[in-house]
Amino acid sequence: MFMQTPAVTEASAARPLIDGFGRHVTYLRISVTDRCDFRCTYCMAEEMTFLPKSEVLSFEEVDAIASAFVARGVTKLRLTGGEPLVRRDIMQLVERLGRHLGSGALSELTLTTNGSQLARFAGQLAAHGVRRVNVSLDSLDEKRFAAITRRGRLGQVIEGIDAAAAAGLAVKINMVPMKGINDDEIETMMAWAHARAFGLTLIEAMPMGDVDIDRFDSHLPLSVVRDNLKQRYTLEPLPMRTGGPARYARVKETGGTLGFITPLTHNFCESCNRVRLTATGQLYLCLGQEDRVDLRTAWREGGAEELDRALDRAMIAKPKGHDFLVDRSHRAPAVGRHMSVTGG
Ligand code: SAM
Ligand code: SF4
Repeated sequence: MFMQTPAVTEASAARPLIDGFGRHVTYLRISVTDRCDFRCTYCMAEEMTFLPKSEVLSFEEVDAIASAFVARGVTKLRLTGGEPLVRRDIMQLVERLGRHLGSGALSELTLTTNGSQLARFAGQLAAHGVRRVNVSLDSLDEKRFAAITRRGRLGQVIEGIDAAAAAGLAVKINMVPMKGINDDEIETMMAWAHARAFGLTLIEAMPMGDVDIDRFDSHLPLSVVRDNLKQRYTLEPLPMRTGGPARYARVKETGGTLGFITPLTHNFCESCNRVRLTATGQLYLCLGQEDRVDLRTAWREGGAEELDRALDRAMIAKPKGHDFLVDRSHRAPAVGRHMSVTGG
């Protein structure tokens, strides 16, 4: 059955997505695949069972669902995964979604990537309207990078980052600092990123999904990192918000921007503006909770109208917030699914 993609009209944009706590949802993250060419130790186990391809939404379905959100006032889309750039023909989806930039309905289309395929795709991303990319990079040491990602080659990622910058994309580096693993590289990473005019954002590892490392052993509260950095650098708090949970500071000595995403040490749920679509069409309403709405069934069985009603149900279901905790007695994941299912 052919179904019309939801139309983005002024009338529908006048029905914003507001949840039960008065938060305005304007940002959709879309995991286009749960697969990845890396197996970062804090994100995945070495042995992973991925979804059968038949379960994964087609690009037409992703487009229909994303367009339903845009029709309800969502202005930012981020593609993620797994690794979004390993999904076959992914540029077709980027191009399709890019039309909402052209119409002015969307202010930003972006992606989070491990960078392994960026050298190949940076030019096309820029051509389809992408202006910024977040690239995950946890070490600048080749051996350590290989150990953390279990599959990755640092040189290939650096090449990808260079290609992104050369294509005119603004680059933000995401780093997950872990105690005893890469925490001695935070300053090196900052100097490297800022010298290239890239922002650096530090992310606290969240207890999501079973992995092979002990989350408690490697847990590093960013409050501690921040206090240490403050002894050597001047961190000037920035009012800048990108619609995300990061708090930013300008580092006076480097002139660059440093972000902190602190789901454990500082809960930011009161200003949450986002929801997350999995590759199978499940809409998760909070990264740290199980509440979800099945948008694939809504679309397949009821088309645009049912999809639109499902978004209203989702707003009622969005929980107040997460309660991640990692300590001696909380080593198990807060939620069973891996970060690669809902994307970051
Ligand atoms: N593969 C892409 C990448 O690595 O950028 C996109 C997906 S990845 C799940 C998105 C982001 O989530 C990455 O920056 C990664 O470092 C981060 N991440 C993965 N598992 C995490 C966890 N358990 N806690 C915090 N961040 C995590
Ligand atoms: Fe893959 Fe990204 Fe997870 Fe690393 S963090 S395993 S690159 S999805």
